[in-house]
Amino acid sequence: MKTKFFFYLIIAFSLFYSCTKPMQNKVLIIGIDGCRPDALISASTPNIDKLWKNGAYSFHTKTDDISYSGSCWTGMLTGVWHAKHNVLSNKYLDPNIEEFPHFFNRVKTFNSNLKTYSITHWSPLHTILQNGDADIALDFDSDQKVTNEAVKVLLHNDVDAMFIHLDDVDHSGHSSGFHPENKEYLSTIENTDINVGKMISALKKRDHYLNENWLIIISTDHGGSEKTHGKNTPEHATIFYIVSGKSAAKGKIQTQVNIVDVAVSAMQHLGLDIKDEWNLDGKPIGLIH
Ligand SMILES: [Zn+2]
Repeated sequence: MKTKFFFYLIIAFSLFYSCTKPMQNKVLIIGIDGCRPDALISASTPNIDKLWKNGAYSFHTKTDDISYSGSCWTGMLTGVWHAKHNVLSNKYLDPNIEEFPHFFNRVKTFNSNLKTYSITHWSPLHTILQNGDADIALDFDSDQKVTNEAVKVLLHNDVDAMFIHLDDVDHSGHSSGFHPENKEYLSTIENTDINVGKMISALKKRDHYLNENWLIIISTDHGGSEKTHGKNTPEHATIFYIVSGKSAAKGKIQTQVNIVDVAVSAMQHLGLDIKDEWNLDGKPIGLIH
């Protein structure tokens, strides 16, 4: 009898706790290197489609004028264009990270208890991380390994902000051509969609998922034409931006979206006050509050 009483007491307490505990806002950014938006639309990508159809999106987002990975990813993760972050190629010669740090740095300054993870398939991306910005920064030599690690972390770890980088689509573009009619390129995008699906499904299996408010952002660093990129042309510099989750708006975003909006949207969702003195170029976009 007594055991039964305690059993019900525990159930009642758990229900009370889960109802009163505030939702924890969290961010997952998945960056698919070198993925042209028109090719993403041509490919069969049920997992990514579900995200943009239930969220806010722009397939006419603008990346940095210097459409190399280094310049573009740095723009995405700092919220400023190359004129400020000073990464002008894939060689991170003199990044201005003191003035314009990775957004993880601002997240940690806001609340050092928030857990930040960066898992990539291109190690130079971590050049702009300063000591303490990331709780974990790991680099792997395949998208599969990146995905497996991301799934493991999402299932078992305390995570508040996570950046995932997948590189196979860019490799495919460089070897077979960046084009929406190139079957090999499209097939790599389709395989990448399967990896995205695995990560989203892991996220939904988290122990406290019902008390978490995840913002999922999917984007890319640049497009390409023939077997190259780097120029400020529509094929190279037009990218996509997809934002999904309870706090995401719905439908096509009508205003201009830029790659520098990614970090700022992520920070807004995590509760940071975006300060004018940070001199950011991006703005929060696609969020309802
Ligand atoms: Zn790239």
